[in-house]
Amino acid sequence: MAAAVALAVALPLSATACGGGSSSSGDTIVIGTKFDQPGLGLKNPDGTMSGFDVDVATYVAKELGYAPDKIEWKESPSAQRETLIQNDQVKFIAATYSITDARKEKVSFAGPYLVTGQSLLVKADNTDITGADSLQNNKKLCSVSGSTPAQRIKDKYPGVQLQQYDTYSACIEALKNGAIDAVTTDEVILAGYAAQSPGTFKIVGEPFSTENYGIGLKKGDTEFCTKVTDALKKMETDGAWKAAWDKNLGPAGLPAPTPPTLDPC
Ligand code: GLU
Repeated sequence: MAAAVALAVALPLSATACGGGSSSSGDTIVIGTKFDQPGLGLKNPDGTMSGFDVDVATYVAKELGYAPDKIEWKESPSAQRETLIQNDQVKFIAATYSITDARKEKVSFAGPYLVTGQSLLVKADNTDITGADSLQNNKKLCSVSGSTPAQRIKDKYPGVQLQQYDTYSACIEALKNGAIDAVTTDEVILAGYAAQSPGTFKIVGEPFSTENYGIGLKKGDTEFCTKVTDALKKMETDGAWKAAWDKNLGPAGLPAPTPPTLDPC
């Protein structure tokens, strides 16, 4: 009996030890992304992950020696991304994560792998919000804590009633039920929500910022940054980048642009 128990315990351990193959980088990799942003980073009801960020991260992981089944996804809300990287809770983050000088104080980035810009989403039947300036008119605007769009509103449109939630999906719910008048964040994110509920929302005005998405990683880890950049370069040149765009963002009505030029690490 004791021997049988010992064997039962020993087996899973040895199975784990053998699971990593020859990779020196370990069995699994923890990658941060969003779980609630359709087209970019979404955890589906069946537990699978989908979106452009998910596909980019999966491609990078594969180049680093991790098959898709070796990826552990960690939800990474906007305000928690730097901390998750600094505390080694994730190896890297692909989560609509804009490269900024302020964030570079805490983390490093490989990229940019996508360029978009801040825009506004309103209900389809709204007529009085046409751009950022019309928000000064006592409108309630939702964005997310720790995001560049929320910061830009505070800096440039101080008269706007900004409400900061933890996630964009919470903003979308509030927009649906009338608690707020508009949602602001990057156009690709807004397009994903609009495509999820056809006829419910519309994007208004022109983008009023440039957001360069990068893969966030440990500050100063140039060797790892270079590996990630090489993987992104390969993805952009072998057609996988365009395929990922067409699959994830094409349905939202966004035609694939030319992939962005990657910065050196
Ligand atoms: N790209 C912007 C940012 O990194 C907005 C999107 C987001 O919050 O994930 O803050």
